[in-house]
Amino acid sequence: MSQRDYVEKDFYATLGVDKDASQPDVAKAYRKLARKLHPDANPGDAGAESRFKEVSEAYSVLSDTSKRAEYDRIRQLVGSGSFGGGFQGGGYPGAGFPGGAGGPGGAAFDISDLLGNLFGQQAGGGSGATPGGRGAPRRGRDVETDVTLDFADAMAGVTTTLRVSGRAACSTCMGTGARPGTSPITCPTCGGRGQILSDQGVFSFAEPCVACGGTGRQIPDPCPTCHGSGAESRIRGIRARIPAGVKDGARIRLAGKGEAGLNGGPAGDLFVRVHVAPHELFGRRGDHLTVTVPVTFTEAALGTRLTVPTLEEPVTLKVPAGTPSGKTFRVRGKGVAGKGGRRGDLLVTVDVAVPRKLSRTQRKLLEDFAATDDSDVRSHLDAALAGAGGGP
Ligand SMILES: [Zn+2]
Ligand SMILES: [Zn+2]
Repeated sequence: MSQRDYVEKDFYATLGVDKDASQPDVAKAYRKLARKLHPDANPGDAGAESRFKEVSEAYSVLSDTSKRAEYDRIRQLVGSGSFGGGFQGGGYPGAGFPGGAGGPGGAAFDISDLLGNLFGQQAGGGSGATPGGRGAPRRGRDVETDVTLDFADAMAGVTTTLRVSGRAACSTCMGTGARPGTSPITCPTCGGRGQILSDQGVFSFAEPCVACGGTGRQIPDPCPTCHGSGAESRIRGIRARIPAGVKDGARIRLAGKGEAGLNGGPAGDLFVRVHVAPHELFGRRGDHLTVTVPVTFTEAALGTRLTVPTLEEPVTLKVPAGTPSGKTFRVRGKGVAGKGGRRGDLLVTVDVAVPRKLSRTQRKLLEDFAATDDSDVRSHLDAALAGAGGGP
C-alpha cells in the first residue's frame, strides 16, 4: 500500500459499508468478503485475489479505531480541497498533524512526509510487503525421504547426509524475508501482538491482525529472492544421525527439518524411512542377531568348540556332546543396541551337516557304529503305527 492510497482509496466502498458504520459492522462486512474472496476458495482467480488484497487493506485501516480516525481526517481534508495546489504551502485546517512543516507559508513538503509521520514506518515502505501484502504465517509441509543403510551401519548407527528437495529457508535472507542488511519491524498496527481487539458491545474479540497476517512483524524492505516469504525451493543437504540398531522399515522423525514455513510460520517435520540392506550372515529378531553355523555329525555327537563371528570380534562357543541339529545357543550382549543402550544377544543355531560321500573306511566305521547303536529315535511313532496297521 503506498502512502497515496490513503488519499485515493475509498476503503468504505471497498468493504461496502457506510462511513459511520460501527466497528462490528466493519468486521462483519470484512469477514463476509474475505470468506468469499479468499485465494483458497478461488484458486487461480487473479481477480478475486486482487479484490481480496484490497479488502484486507481496507480492513487493516478501518478495523483500527485510531487509524480509521486518521484516515477519516485525511479523507475529509481531501474532500475539502485542502490538499489542492500540489500539496504545497500551508493552511492545513487539520491542525495537530505531527511534523507538519511550518504554518502558513511554510516550506514546501509533500504528502509523503505528512503521511509518513502520521503512520510511522508502515507508510514508509511502499514496496509490497506493507499491510495486506503479507500472507498469514503457514507451517511448512512435512517431507518424507528414504535412506538405505548397509547392515553394519544400521547396527552401529551412522551420521548421513540426506538430500531433500522442496521449500527451504531462503538462502539470501536466511528466512527472515527482509532484504539483507534490513530487518523486519514490529507491526505498527497491532504493536507486535499479531491480533487486534475489536469491541463488539460489551464483548471484545481478538482477531488476527490483517496488517501483518498475525505475525506481529512487517517487512518494509523485502528480500529480492523470496519477496518476503522467507522461503525458496531448492535441494538441501540435511545431516541426520541414524541411531544404532535402527530396524528395516523404521520411520525417524526429524522435527523442524521439513519444508520451511511461510511468512514466519514454523517448518514442517522430516520423516526418514530407513531401509536396511540384508547381511550375508546375520539375520535379526528384535534386538537379537541370528546366525546359523553348520557342524558335522561327529562334532554334534562328540561336542566341540566353535569360533563364531559377531559384529565385532569372533567369540568361542562351546557345543556340548550330544547337541541336536537346530539347537540355538545364546551369546549374551552380542546382538543389536536396543532402547536404553541395552544390547540384545547373538542367537547361534547349529545345523548338523550330513556327509554326502563316504570313503570305504568311513562307511565301515559307521556301519560298526550303527551295529552298536540301540537308540530308538522313533519310539513315539509306535502307537500311531500300531493303530493304523492293526485290524478291529
Ligand atoms: Zn529471502
Ligand atoms: Zn499486526
